[in-house]
Amino acid sequence: MQRLCHHGASYADVRFYPQQDDETLVVMQGNLKSVERSVTTGIGIRVLYNGAWGFAAASSPDALATVADTALANAKIAAQRLPYPVRLAPRTPVTARYESPCVIDPFSVPLEEKVALLMEVDKQLSHPAVAQRIVYMNATRRQVIFMDSDGAQIEKIIHEIFARMIAIGVEANGMSQERSYELRNKGAGTRGWEAFQDPAYFTGQAPRVVDELQQVLAAQPCPRDTRAVILLPGIMFLQTHEVIGHALELDRILGYELSYAGGSFVTLEDFGTLRYGSDKLTVRADATVPNSPGSFGYDDDGIPCQNYVLIENGMLKSAITSRQTILEANDKAGHTIFASSGGCARACGFNRVPLERMTNINIDAGADGTLDDIIAKTERGIVMDGARSWSIGSNREQFHFACEIGWLVEDGRITRVVKNPTYGMDTLPFWRALSAVGDERTRELVFVPNCGKGLPSQIMHLGHFVPVCRFENVPIGN
Ligand SMILES: [Zn+2]
Repeated sequence: MQRLCHHGASYADVRFYPQQDDETLVVMQGNLKSVERSVTTGIGIRVLYNGAWGFAAASSPDALATVADTALANAKIAAQRLPYPVRLAPRTPVTARYESPCVIDPFSVPLEEKVALLMEVDKQLSHPAVAQRIVYMNATRRQVIFMDSDGAQIEKIIHEIFARMIAIGVEANGMSQERSYELRNKGAGTRGWEAFQDPAYFTGQAPRVVDELQQVLAAQPCPRDTRAVILLPGIMFLQTHEVIGHALELDRILGYELSYAGGSFVTLEDFGTLRYGSDKLTVRADATVPNSPGSFGYDDDGIPCQNYVLIENGMLKSAITSRQTILEANDKAGHTIFASSGGCARACGFNRVPLERMTNINIDAGADGTLDDIIAKTERGIVMDGARSWSIGSNREQFHFACEIGWLVEDGRITRVVKNPTYGMDTLPFWRALSAVGDERTRELVFVPNCGKGLPSQIMHLGHFVPVCRFENVPIGN
């Protein structure tokens, strides 16, 4: 680092991955379909020279000097073609260590034991109505050592576990229906093998999945109508992800993702003035939730994880930010919108550069009680759960989702299940139509293992801690 600064770099950081383990097990129809196991080691160096980033990486830590020289050479070339000089917001460098909560390291559990539990879930999904059943588990353990030229030194050990069960049935006309469930929690607890074993958060859900698939197979199609839509956390997480989370990534707002992930309808003038949703909508970027893939201790700028408000009582307040983008946004706005980095810069591996990534983009619990309380106060509505397909405007200005299951509500009661429920609307009118937010009992933290962004592509892990929510006058069945 000293060498880089001696050669003119204004800042440099290094991320060393001594070892990253990944394992994915898939059981399909009672058979172990695949076991994938990988071990990764590497080092990535980022250098800032005359306002331009240069980056280089190698899988051998022995290549440190070469990687550093290449990163600097790349920065010098980039500095000749600079659309906007990079500056980093000031911060206090820290020396710290973070380990995500884990009781049983999945990599310490014998393979036979893991396969046996997946088989057990598969057995519970086995039923004449289920034509195909899939149980999937992915575990990751990575150690990351971050150092920068300002003196920061951070070690992170991150354990993560993801799981999903899928039951697929076939209707008489040959169309398929699907009911699924992914491992989730209530924001607390731990992130090891024990989470997978917990009946409340995964293994115990199989009988309900099969039962609901049977109901969908026997159901009439979702009517074409305009009704109140009540979203359970199994779809509410994606609703939040796609048209709040992605829309509020500051690099997208500044136009940096236009060639891949897209832009945002949000402009710099909107902060502090835009009514994004109704008074009932308060959204935070909370990377301090005790147990979620969106909690990681320190970001890849070396900033401690934070919990801050993005939308407060419906008004847009802040964005998903990093050290780099806040100064550019403040400059372009002509005033200070963002006082400090939100600590959201993350890279998906040693060989990628950090970008603005969602942490846990959560909706505060409300005062409208339980799901039953909300249904009881709904005259004509539909409850939906399970994300089946989604289509979103490239600037996140509108959306259309198809769900796995719907329950029609008439005069405060569920009347029947419907299949192929869909809904869609423009983003702002939808959030402004938020009319009920469930209390803490309705909140679930849903893990997202596959958020894509960046060129070259980066797949990121995060979470959404969301309550049951109701929206008025939403077109359905289109
Ligand atoms: Zn995403």
